[in-house]
Amino acid sequence: MKEFDYIIIGGGCAGLSLAYELQINEKLKDKTLAIIELRTEYKKDKTWSFWKVADHNFDDCVKKNWENFSVNISNKMNHLNCASYPYQSIDSGLFYEKINKKLKENKNISFFKDINEINSKNSFIFNSVPLNKKDYQNLWQHFCGVEIETKTNFFDDEIFNLMDFDCEQRESVHFFYTLPYSKTKALVETTWLSKMNDSSQKDYDSQIKDYIENHLNLKNYKITYKEEGAIPLFYPTYKKEKNKINIGTAGGMTRLSTGYTFLNIQEHSKYICQNIENISNTKKFEIGKKYQYLDNIFLRVVKKNPKMMPDIFFKMFKSSPKTVIKFLSNKSNFFEDLSIILKMPKLTFIKALFY
Ligand SMILES: Cc1cc2nc3c(=O)[nH]c(=O)nc-3n(C[C@H](O)[C@H](O)[C@H](O)COP(=O)(O)OP(=O)(O)OC[C@H]3O[C@@H](n4cnc5c(N)ncnc54)[C@H](O)[C@@H]3O)c2cc1C
Repeated sequence: MKEFDYIIIGGGCAGLSLAYELQINEKLKDKTLAIIELRTEYKKDKTWSFWKVADHNFDDCVKKNWENFSVNISNKMNHLNCASYPYQSIDSGLFYEKINKKLKENKNISFFKDINEINSKNSFIFNSVPLNKKDYQNLWQHFCGVEIETKTNFFDDEIFNLMDFDCEQRESVHFFYTLPYSKTKALVETTWLSKMNDSSQKDYDSQIKDYIENHLNLKNYKITYKEEGAIPLFYPTYKKEKNKINIGTAGGMTRLSTGYTFLNIQEHSKYICQNIENISNTKKFEIGKKYQYLDNIFLRVVKKNPKMMPDIFFKMFKSSPKTVIKFLSNKSNFFEDLSIILKMPKLTFIKALFY
């Protein structure tokens, strides 16, 4: 059976980002790479959005950049500017196409469906396939989004709505998210933070229909695309293996308080690429311990006090947008952290330390 220097298990966002990074930095000229991926064809299945706080390789896959956003609860709206760190949406279809085209240029890169098709004994493995365990004790960010089109101009595409909490909370945390790609096209998403043990929250289609028709007051529209997902808001536990690194969601690249993962995956890929020659002895790449600690407290508050969360999120965005964005994107300094922490209800957060 064929052997490879490197194996990437899972050719999704993290697997392909890493393969691309290695390829463009010429790390695969004299090394071989096998990518193990189940899917038979790549098509758009996700929209990755984030504040651009760091450079990445996929500016040409960006559908749209925004420099303004809003956050609202039932009776209050906050408009914020994010020109210093624009919010970007990446079309996964364009991302897959760009990477696969590049990877085809190198004969040292091969795709397989199953790791048993090759000899993996002496390879270094990058794994992006999470353990397949449903966990109803921890929180998930689960959501469903639809792209809609209207015949006439309807949306203001200069500003996106990050969180609209003016909706049913059902003893949980729930908000809508609207990304207007143009005056006639938008992604509208219903998002829940919950343990996913209440299947009644999954009537996503009727939630979205009701929101579009009765909240946005849009009656005449066509759904052109749909995506659904659940991001674990807890880190996977794996036993340490000498010749294996977990990447992507499986590698703890999700920021637990937000679900943002894409940009962390890009930074992790760059880190691995820089250290690839000595990868077995390289220090583990992690989201900063400070954020892990603060997010852990934050999620305890979400679990215990879901009703308070719309207000808490709203208050968080009362800080300067630049500060909040840096905090949510793991780029804040001590003083910026402090300014966010001071906006939080102190007693609730102090109690959460002891749950
Ligand atoms: C619908 C959706 C929208 C999201 N939106 C955002 C966003 O806006 N911003 C953000 O920062 N994050 C977002 N995320 C979170 C995160 O960025 C994505 O989940 C991202 O795709 C994670 O990358 P990954 O490589 O870890 O997982 P994936 O991209 O899911 O890749 C895993 C790959 O492994 C393959 N696979 C599975 N099982 C096997 C197996 N046994 N053998 C071989 N291959 C296998 C799968 O087919 C897949 O290609 C979103 C997640 C989802 C689900």
